[in-house]
Amino acid sequence: MSKKIGIPRGLFYYQFYPFWKSFFEELGAEIVVSDHTSRKILDEGVKKCVDEACLPVKIFFGHVENIKDKVDYLFLPRYTSVSKKEYVCPKFGGIPDMIRNTLSDLPEIIDTEINLRRTEKNALKAAIEIGRYFSDDNKAIKKAYKKALISYREFRQQVKKGIFPGELLDNSANRVQNRNKQNFSPIYDMINIKNEDKYKNNEDKYSEDKCDDKCNGDRSEEDNNLFNGKNRINSNMKLNIAVLGHGYNLYDSYCNMNALYKLRNLGANIITIDMIDENIINEKSNLLNKKTFWYFGSKIIGCAYHLLDRNDIDGIVYVMSFGCGIDSFICDLVERAIRRNKNIPFIILTIDEHTGEAGMDTRIEAFIDMIRWRKKYESDISSHGKHVYMCQSSAR
Ligand code: SF4
Repeated sequence: MSKKIGIPRGLFYYQFYPFWKSFFEELGAEIVVSDHTSRKILDEGVKKCVDEACLPVKIFFGHVENIKDKVDYLFLPRYTSVSKKEYVCPKFGGIPDMIRNTLSDLPEIIDTEINLRRTEKNALKAAIEIGRYFSDDNKAIKKAYKKALISYREFRQQVKKGIFPGELLDNSANRVQNRNKQNFSPIYDMINIKNEDKYKNNEDKYSEDKCDDKCNGDRSEEDNNLFNGKNRINSNMKLNIAVLGHGYNLYDSYCNMNALYKLRNLGANIITIDMIDENIINEKSNLLNKKTFWYFGSKIIGCAYHLLDRNDIDGIVYVMSFGCGIDSFICDLVERAIRRNKNIPFIILTIDEHTGEAGMDTRIEAFIDMIRWRKKYESDISSHGKHVYMCQSSAR
């Protein structure tokens, strides 16, 4: 009978699951993934985890609790580094110990260290150590490793095309998507630079909105219509919104209260870090005076700098977890870079276990509304409209 290995649907699940799935299946193991994140899983995690931990770690605890009684092994690798010269957050390294010392009645834990800081060759070394739980044959383990790499690269390619990992890996995102299918915008548009023209046309359309009527204190016909609610801002206008944040905050729909899908539903084409070429991100992250050695930090900074080079971004959303040390300063660096260089509309959505969905909805809707208004009335200065500005100019 094949051995069952439990993989919690949290933290690096949205990044590396395709790799481990292929690897373990090739070695004949049966994979058990925890259920989709839910209120029950979150509550369980909050109850068992230390108060100071961030939301994704608490959720991870809930996922472990959800599968621990169904499997022979729990797969909780000790991720120290997943790329050269960079470290992941120390909480990843501490997860196996935190779980071991907090939860009871656990099966055997596979907590092999994965540390690619010096060399990426260590990945194979770690894979062999992990594979030994299921096979004594080194050749078979190496073969499984190679196959897993192919699956992982295919997965990354799909994500680069604009498909969220959640859509590829689990059904929760798909369920959300199907429910709102008729309102969804094509997600590939955003990353297709050729579409810049398309968006430019939109911009042209809205910048044509010139003040050609005389400054006589009266509202123009268009403003009258707007005032009377007859003329609305075009909600079909496509917006290119970049969403920054850690994968587990972005792709776990429960964790972020469907933020990505809500944005999409409001007509936004979404781009995330995983949809941008890694070489570009690495190159850009080197522009920081002192390169951050945190994996997540350096990716987010690199991505933000890349976005500043583009002319097709209408807004940037930063999804951060309350209590995340890395986000607390990376988010600030990103915000300063945006304000100094381009002044693209920017919003921070902070999530924790208390965040109310209504508050999240309001902020997202207001952000998108504000961008649409800005695109239409960018040249206006006074909140009273262009007429006041015109009056003041002519009085000087
Ligand atoms: S990087 Fe931040 S959000 Fe992620 S596990 Fe560490 S503290 Fe939590």
